Amino acid sequence: MTTQETIELFNKYVIGNYNRLPKVIVRGEGCYIWDADGNKILDMFPGWAVSGIGHCHPKVVEAIRKQSEQLLHIDNTFYSEPQGKLAKLLSERAFGGKCFFCNSGAEANEAAMKLARLYTPKEKYKFITCEGSFHGRTLATLAATAQPKHHEGLLPLMPGFIYVPFNDVAALEAAFTDEVAAVLIEPVQGEGGINLATNEYLQTIRQLCDEKGALIIFDEVQSGIGRTGKWFGYQHFDVIPDIMTMAKTLGGGVAIGAMMARQEIADSLKPGKHASTFGGNALACAAAVATIEAIDEEGLLQNAIELGEYAKDKLEQLKDKHFIIDHVRGLGLMLGVQLKSAGTDIVNKCLDKGLRINCTHETVIRFMPPMIVTKEQINKAIEIFDNVLSEQTE
Ligand SMILES: *Cc1c(COP(=O)(O)O)cnc(C)c1O
Repeated sequence: MTTQETIELFNKYVIGNYNRLPKVIVRGEGCYIWDADGNKILDMFPGWAVSGIGHCHPKVVEAIRKQSEQLLHIDNTFYSEPQGKLAKLLSERAFGGKCFFCNSGAEANEAAMKLARLYTPKEKYKFITCEGSFHGRTLATLAATAQPKHHEGLLPLMPGFIYVPFNDVAALEAAFTDEVAAVLIEPVQGEGGINLATNEYLQTIRQLCDEKGALIIFDEVQSGIGRTGKWFGYQHFDVIPDIMTMAKTLGGGVAIGAMMARQEIADSLKPGKHASTFGGNALACAAAVATIEAIDEEGLLQNAIELGEYAKDKLEQLKDKHFIIDHVRGLGLMLGVQLKSAGTDIVNKCLDKGLRINCTHETVIRFMPPMIVTKEQINKAIEIFDNVLSEQTE
């Protein structure tokens, strides 16, 4: 099929809820994707942060092949090995909790909020979330997402959400009533523009939660599984959550989400209280196990730290050259370039020159290369970005 034919199929049969670029992607390998017209694109925002260890990582592909010859799916009426193995690997790399598996980030957050409600006394039913947060598109996670633009046309939302400004300790203290079941927060806001929580802020949340008998839920759907140079974003701070959610990079490109909770909290999720038909299926879990093993075996956390610093330096150097860059922020390979004006045009021009990056909140360029990225690939990306910025200011 030609690009035009595929686009016509979409126009006729696929709901138009995405702004799609006029390219059909047919192949991915490592840090590259190819379109149907044979163009090779350097992907510095792989799969919207899903292909965090690169496209079609050979270890993940092999694990999928092997598992698919044995068993694709078995329902949770039974035990299956990949799910148990994956839970152990995740538990050991985080805070020793137990896992529940689902299929996406939003589902993981739904599970987390249900568990927080079930564990805490019934008068506690509210959640504190932060302005600029992003927790998903289902009705409860949408209500948790404290961004009015996402709520348009969908009011009234599920009640019980209290929105506070990010990193504002006084506002948090004022909002913290006895009705709060949990604080749901991204240690590093992703969609909101790569905003880092401060250690003081997270510690205040921990302290208030302990005082009031509420829980901390860290949404690590974007920041988790190595992107920041540690297994989970929270590990850069001196605070341990009660519940944590993850998805995106977890499956190495296959759909999977997970929620982890401290053991005594996890026990509140009794049979009949929550479930997911596809959750924890053998194929997705085998892919996730292979993803975690690849990160270990190939030293990808270290690579995320080193190449993250390298990329951040390079981006900061561009700041001296291009007035439009305000500053660069981020952790590991989760980097944001704050512009002084809109960046969508820049992102589109980069794509025309063979570089994929992303723009969020109009003025933040998200630069989130796969954790296998090399210096040469970063140099190439910076070169294209630099050229496009030069043309902009002409
Ligand atoms: C992407 C994202 C979600 C939603 O994940 P889906 O898989 O799209 O449901 C939730 N939280 C954060 C922090 C995300 O980045």
